[in-house]
Amino acid sequence: MDTHSPLGPDALKALDGRHHLHPFTDTKALAAEGGARLIVRGEGVWLTDAAGERILDGMAGLWCVNVGYGRAELAEAAHRQLLDLSFYHGFFKTTTEPVARLAGKLAELAPPGLSRAFFANSGSEANDTIVRMVRHYWNLKGRPGKKAFISRTHGYHGTTMASTSLGGIGVMHGQGDLPLPGFHHVMPPYAFELAQGMDPEAFGRLAARAVEEKILELGPENVAAFIGEPIQGAGGVIIPPDSYWPEINRICREHDVLLIADEVICGFGRLGHWFGSQRYGIEPDFMTLAKGITSGYLPLSAVMVGDRVAETLIEEGGEFYHGFTYSGHPVPCAVALANIDLIERENLVERVRTDIGPYLRRRFEEALEGHPLVGEIRSQGLIGAIEIVKDRRTRERWPGDGKVGLMARDHCFRNNVIMRGIRDSLVFAPPLTLSHAEADEMVARARLSLDQTARDLGAL
Ligand code: PMP
Repeated sequence: MDTHSPLGPDALKALDGRHHLHPFTDTKALAAEGGARLIVRGEGVWLTDAAGERILDGMAGLWCVNVGYGRAELAEAAHRQLLDLSFYHGFFKTTTEPVARLAGKLAELAPPGLSRAFFANSGSEANDTIVRMVRHYWNLKGRPGKKAFISRTHGYHGTTMASTSLGGIGVMHGQGDLPLPGFHHVMPPYAFELAQGMDPEAFGRLAARAVEEKILELGPENVAAFIGEPIQGAGGVIIPPDSYWPEINRICREHDVLLIADEVICGFGRLGHWFGSQRYGIEPDFMTLAKGITSGYLPLSAVMVGDRVAETLIEEGGEFYHGFTYSGHPVPCAVALANIDLIERENLVERVRTDIGPYLRRRFEEALEGHPLVGEIRSQGLIGAIEIVKDRRTRERWPGDGKVGLMARDHCFRNNVIMRGIRDSLVFAPPLTLSHAEADEMVARARLSLDQTARDLGAL
């Protein structure tokens, strides 16, 4: 096939249908629905499809396009770097300017003590890297028994063998004989589902103590690390009560368990802070960064390593036999620097915290007040969820095990606003550049979609 000959949308969709296996997709069901929607442009918070429809992206792609689509500064940074030095690596005593600068910049933005960066391409790879570093660390410390990892149900940490095992998504475990041995899961701080009328702060402490109970059950001498997202994203935007993370800090400290904050979604301003660790006072030994680090313009991830681990690995570890061809690829690193520069210059972190985050939340609350399907609206910064219920008082769910969330999502998609259905909730995480007018538009379309869902269910 001539790769340069022009192809119309129908030809492209046909090719896609025949040859592209989509991620996280039921290929048979997609074909039965007529194939995928072809997206052709992005600008700000707006996408355009091949039919010319403008779609408001309430999910910032996959929670990643923090500065919005089509920013010339990022394209120019990539272009310049591609011409200056398209690739070089850091394996054998070399480095490049964007990598050195980005490592320094991340150390400056991160909480104190996280002063070293190891680069990879995806969140999954970064979490795999952490699993290897943690195991190596405890071996170096002469405590080879400390190998177990603890994480939460509904946690999401990626799709490689180790990162799927870290995650707590049952359907993913089901397909690959996972989790691997040595990966354990405890309850999430999911107040809406689990608190059952308990005071939220007391519930936060209770959920944290589930981690302590698991450590004691396994024996602290066998537990290597606990990993958690500051706010659990792909598992349904589970926002912990403020009491949760301080208690986790204490538990990890007391039992000598390393603490990993997976900041892949929460990092780079999404919560109104540079990192979720700063919002919740988390004292991590590692942070996982990806997505917002380049606003999704190019693939890049980083592991931020805390000083006590880094010093041991450096002083006693010798060569670390780990790295990817593209660990510290100069082009995505140059884009990351330009992206961070934009976030700083446009004051986006503060804007999320003091302006657009609270504004969007208020607008959702006003528009959905008393809506028969809405059991809760929760958000922090520019990430949030609307819980869909059958009975607002008892929080009884609709039958169908998450089908209603997908119905609502599909209505949103037809109404040209992208939100995500996770079990029976509708989730949002728009670009941090969302304007007030765009927030109003997003809320209006979401309200319409929930009304249509309610009508389908005979609830309106
Ligand atoms: N950690 C978290 C918290 C994530 O949300 C994701 C992706 N959604 C990952 C890790 C995995 O990142 P990637 O898809 O880039 O491998």
